[in-house]
Amino acid sequence: MARVWNFSAGPAALPQPVLEQVREEMLDWHGAGMGVMEMSHRGKEFTGIVEQAEADLRELLGVPAGYKVLFLQGGATQQFAQIPMNLLAGGSADYLVTGSWSKKALKEAQRVVAGSGSVRCAGSTEGGGFLDLPDPARLDLDPRAAYFHLCTNETIHGVEVPPDYALPTHAPIVADMSSHILSRPVDVSRYGLIYAGAQKNIGPSGVTLVIVRDDLLGRAAPSVPSVMDFAVMAEHGSMLNTPPTFAIYVAGLVFQWLKAQGGLAAIERVNAAKADLLYACIDASDGFYRNPVAAACRSRMNVPFTLADGALDAAFLAETKAAGLVSLKGHKSFGGMRASIYNAMPLDGVRVLVDFMNDFARCKA
Ligand code: PMP
Repeated sequence: MARVWNFSAGPAALPQPVLEQVREEMLDWHGAGMGVMEMSHRGKEFTGIVEQAEADLRELLGVPAGYKVLFLQGGATQQFAQIPMNLLAGGSADYLVTGSWSKKALKEAQRVVAGSGSVRCAGSTEGGGFLDLPDPARLDLDPRAAYFHLCTNETIHGVEVPPDYALPTHAPIVADMSSHILSRPVDVSRYGLIYAGAQKNIGPSGVTLVIVRDDLLGRAAPSVPSVMDFAVMAEHGSMLNTPPTFAIYVAGLVFQWLKAQGGLAAIERVNAAKADLLYACIDASDGFYRNPVAAACRSRMNVPFTLADGALDAAFLAETKAAGLVSLKGHKSFGGMRASIYNAMPLDGVRVLVDFMNDFARCKA
């Protein structure tokens, strides 16, 4: 069996030991005589799986008391709508736009509130091509905002909000962490709500993580469907209806794998080394490769880059593929290439990519 080095932005590579364990347990989970996909979500086996997954996640992220952890469905895109439905309560919200995903979140929130509240852009870097973060002191904030929304890692543009970025203090912070959650320690207490689709650093697609502070629950209008109401879902332990059981189970195995790696501080060291290696290769290429994002907010998880000569793109993609390096084609809105190097991508995979890139540049320059 030949496994490739998979640089997909998501769904993305999973840790191989997790996949092996899933294979091992597929037909008979811990002597239950059935696999997890076949179990009742109300039975004691699955209840144990979900409780363990939540406990491990809380430990990894250091989620303080006073926050609920929800395992929902609909992806991060559903959260773009569900968050204003739950938090806006007819008021206003501030959105920071630093790439395609936060722009989409703003648009969807505007669509959802239509007439019953206001959703404002508090700052945008679109004019400059999403290459930097705005000066936090110069944001246009509404002092009465119900929340402030941002995307802490823009998957397409490769812009990551560093931990020392001064977040506003006028309103609870709501963060889309889909593409860098669990890649480094985070101070959860700075946030009112954190959300993430699973298919990058958590597990398979199909489960969406929401971590929400208790005081933000119970603000949804009575017309909000119960399955979309955070308070109702929290009351039912995310099991008002059938949850995505298999995705939650695999996510739980990923959490255990992360703990075995030494937790988030340990994985952060590996992630920093991987990103440093790749950006150093790009920056040392004399312009053969280029990443235009400001150094202070270059993403450690998603590294977009272009080739100076776009006519070489096809050869780059064909030759990387032949060398077992796949899913490097950049997003259509950015062009060029993108290497997504989430937790499951080992340093060795990035070394192989960097060696290839250096050879390719030498041959074609
Ligand atoms: N936010 C970010 C930062 C993303 O990267 C993505 C998906 N790549 C989304 C939101 C949308 O996620 P989903 O497909 O789970 O709805």
